[in-house]
Amino acid sequence: MALPFTAEVRTLCEGALAETLALLLPVSCAGCDELDTPLCEACARELTPQPHRQVVDAPGGPVEVWSSLRFDGVAARVLRAVKEDGRTGLIRALAGCVAAALARADAPGAVVVPMPTSRAAYRRRGYRVPDLLARSARIRPARALSYTRRTGDQRGLGRLERHRNTAGSMVARGIRGQRVVVLDDVITTGASLAEAVRALREAGADVAAAVTVAATPRRLP
Ligand SMILES: [Zn+2]
Repeated sequence: MALPFTAEVRTLCEGALAETLALLLPVSCAGCDELDTPLCEACARELTPQPHRQVVDAPGGPVEVWSSLRFDGVAARVLRAVKEDGRTGLIRALAGCVAAALARADAPGAVVVPMPTSRAAYRRRGYRVPDLLARSARIRPARALSYTRRTGDQRGLGRLERHRNTAGSMVARGIRGQRVVVLDDVITTGASLAEAVRALREAGADVAAAVTVAATPRRLP
């Protein structure tokens, strides 16, 4: 019987192929390409959390964001390997970054809400990076946020354009009266985070803070 070669079937094949290739091809460090290790000791040290704080403007008031790493060098390469190359085994090396940022956010008892993953990204990857990050840090995430519409690719857009691209794109459900911390892998301009905070507040949540593994070194005005 011929199976129609739909996008879903193709994704399944790619996933299986990627897993097979991973067994056949030599593994190399996600940070520096050193052979025979998924992450060498020197690169693992580069992932030592050094939480820093920034404040992001959002509808209803600013939100404090704690990030454990700068999004460049080894941290950027490792996160890209997780997001684009399917190397989810590296998530474990980032668990400490999630925990350290959460500790600094200082919102005990708050529900951790991961940033939503677009349908297209989920179809491409087969997993949700913020959810995996939460689980690696032994947190059970509350998937309260979802997209209500497609947003264009954020890459190459300036801060204002990103805000326009994301505004009104998310909805939050089942979170009324709860204190929440938003979790994401990377914060760039903060446009997506501002939209998530808007949706959560509109749904009656009290947003205590946001945490990310990494942040771009300098947010452009
Ligand atoms: Zn390395």
